Amino acid sequence: MKRLLKKIELLEILVTGCRIHPAYRAIRPATGRCSPCVKMWKARQKLNNLVEKEEE
Ligand SMILES: [Zn+2]
Repeated sequence: MKRLLKKIELLEILVTGCRIHPAYRAIRPATGRCSPCVKMWKARQKLNNLVEKEEE
C-alpha cells in the first residue's frame, strides 16, 4: 500500500510536468539546468525501479 502511494506521488510529478518545457516527458535525461525537469527525470527512474521490483 505504501508502495502504491509512492507511485501515485511520482506519477503526479510526471503529470504536473515542467512549465518551461511542456514537451519534456522524462523519456530522456534532463539537461540538468532546469530543476522541474530534473525532478521529473528522477521521478521517472524511481517509478521504473518500483515497477521492476514488482515484477521480480
Ligand atoms: Zn524544464
